[in-house]
Amino acid sequence: MKKIDFTPQEESAINEAFKELLAIYMQSEHSKKEQRIRTAFSFAKKAHDKARRKSGEPYIHHPIAVARIVCQEMGLGSTSICCALLHDVVEDTDYTVENIEHFFSPKIAEIVDGLTKIKGDKVIGKDKSLQAENFRRLVLTMNDDPRVVLIKIADRLHNLRTLGSMPLNKQKKIAGETLEFFSPLAHRLGLYTIKSELENLSFKYDQPERYEEISQKLLKYENGIEVFFHDLVEPLREKLTESKLNFELTYRLKGVYSISQKMRRKQISFEEMADIFAVRIIFDAKRFSDEILICRQIQAYVEQTYQTRQDRLRDWLIRPKPNGYQALHLTVMLPSKHQIEIQIRSRRMHDIAEQGLAAHWRYKDGDKGGEDAIMVELLAQMRDILQYRDSSATEFLDNFKASLYANDIYVFTPKGEEIHLPFGATVLDFAYAVHSGLGDECMGAKIDHKLYPCNHKLKCGDQIEIVNITDQVRCEPSWIETVVTPNAKIKIQATLRRLQKAICLKGEEIFLTTISKYGIKPDKALIDNFTHFYGVNTPDELYINLGSDEIKIDEDLNKIEKAVAQEGNALNIKAIIAYISRASKQENTIPKTSMPATPINKKEVYQLEVKNAQANYLLASCCKPILGDEITGVITKNGQVYVHRSSCSRAMQIKSTQGDRLLSVMWAGQEVKAFLTSIFISGVDSKGLLGTICNIISNQLSLQIKTVNVTTNDGVFESQFDIDIPSLDMLRKLFVRLKEEDNIISVKRLEN
Ligand code: MN
Repeated sequence: MKKIDFTPQEESAINEAFKELLAIYMQSEHSKKEQRIRTAFSFAKKAHDKARRKSGEPYIHHPIAVARIVCQEMGLGSTSICCALLHDVVEDTDYTVENIEHFFSPKIAEIVDGLTKIKGDKVIGKDKSLQAENFRRLVLTMNDDPRVVLIKIADRLHNLRTLGSMPLNKQKKIAGETLEFFSPLAHRLGLYTIKSELENLSFKYDQPERYEEISQKLLKYENGIEVFFHDLVEPLREKLTESKLNFELTYRLKGVYSISQKMRRKQISFEEMADIFAVRIIFDAKRFSDEILICRQIQAYVEQTYQTRQDRLRDWLIRPKPNGYQALHLTVMLPSKHQIEIQIRSRRMHDIAEQGLAAHWRYKDGDKGGEDAIMVELLAQMRDILQYRDSSATEFLDNFKASLYANDIYVFTPKGEEIHLPFGATVLDFAYAVHSGLGDECMGAKIDHKLYPCNHKLKCGDQIEIVNITDQVRCEPSWIETVVTPNAKIKIQATLRRLQKAICLKGEEIFLTTISKYGIKPDKALIDNFTHFYGVNTPDELYINLGSDEIKIDEDLNKIEKAVAQEGNALNIKAIIAYISRASKQENTIPKTSMPATPINKKEVYQLEVKNAQANYLLASCCKPILGDEITGVITKNGQVYVHRSSCSRAMQIKSTQGDRLLSVMWAGQEVKAFLTSIFISGVDSKGLLGTICNIISNQLSLQIKTVNVTTNDGVFESQFDIDIPSLDMLRKLFVRLKEEDNIISVKRLEN
């Protein structure tokens, strides 16, 4: 670090920044422990001495800014502010946790110690499990004191706000990690405003072009919405004014990142997005106990004014979401057939929705338990994240991520028992939530007198009766993809392991009885040779294939016996091994039941520009990038570079867990080569539709079709085309042309 004395201007800027922080704290409703904060500031300033940030500014500005976020945007008090000021002292300077305990308090020392041990933004681990362990520790420290996590989020937010001065690959790593862990965590803690900012900032660094494109469109959209909004809500405004309510009628726009996510998930364009805009009614209630009643009153006004869709009613009044979100959402249908969401909340509900903890603090009525009491409450809320503390690091991480999005819908058993499930949960999730035995036997479900398959997605309020045959375990590997709850995943994995063990034992028995028929006793060399012979990796895999009838060792042994006899030899271990090693040298003489080949297409190598590196680049076949896509390079252990689309989920995972394997890459010049890409087209089955599609692709746009796969079912046409495409521009052109066809309902590019 550079050790240049601060200029008088810099010194006064530091003091100014601290004064602002202090002023914000003094205006808050916390007990005024000014001296404590002054001491922490002096201590931190002295400790960081002349250190500077990458941008060149004095380092102390960073802890001051983090403390300010903690105070102003999270609403926390003096303990947290002191810890934020001191959060980098132990890690970056010669001072120890003991020093901090001596000068401040054991509590502050404990929190700073927690912050020092979790280095979310300073890479410690090269492999995934180490990083996973790091996050696991981060979440588990919530159990000791949730302030560690809150200050860490504030730290991350400030680092993102000042990310510009970091090298490009570091930016992408921090951005990826934030999207993967910190923003879901902020979401779970109810810090909505901070969550959105984390997402949008990360997105800006992760996919700058897409970010720019969408924010431009959003800006234009907002400019156009004012008049529409005014006309739309006028009749409602009149009714509300008449009722003498104290209210604010406003609107909210979706964030750039959530827009992008939804466009990708639903494969729709910006213009097709239905919920960029929502109306918000925020009212003031004199008494806490009046709130729900007023909500219902406003709901009635809305229903008198517009046509509402009862099936889209979302009621979180009596039963708030686990992160504390409380509101009533209605969807209204305009004469123009546009649908608009209207959100109704009290001022208190609104503040809690936007700021989480800060608002809880403000609305804490009467009994003052202080900040520590809030932390206890927060911990109780976090229980379902922490219940996985005994699993392995990677398992924990997966479950943790899943549980961040937990409990979005509630459904009912036939007896009317209520069960909470995350949004997107299927019949199987429900079955496993009721009982793991019921899950294993699930064939489908009866909902509203109709029969639905296991992968059917449940709706809020569904009453579900699972259809099963007792004692018939139907669990299969594909089920893991069908469920979304960690609970169901864990149970399916356990059942599959149990089933596999049984098959493995059966296979081993088949192996032993078959060879004993030929008078042979097994030994290690023989088993190894058979393993090799069938192209599997381990004896267990061999037994599983035998047990599930994939391999017929009896037939093969028969063949071997004949072959050996022709040479005038008797069948024994030596003869078998000799035969097998000969056979494996001649390729393809016997079909192998091996695992599928690696998912990477090794043949195609493209020229790309990479800073300071010379290597060959392969296109990852999971996301099949094409010229014009935003891309990220990932370097493997043996130096091979794979190019992924920046939006690829595999690449996202690497970004968040193994950031040091990233390379920033870009397309070099105009490639003339074609890229293989897969698109999915669905529509209404009609005569000549396939011909029309082929005509557009191959005649009108002169693209080459590699493979086509078409199915029609009950009037629905579904097809997958693998085509050679020169660039993203051409792909967009193709999409526009296809979507012009009346009978084509959706066109999307396949990923993974
Ligand atoms: Mn920091």
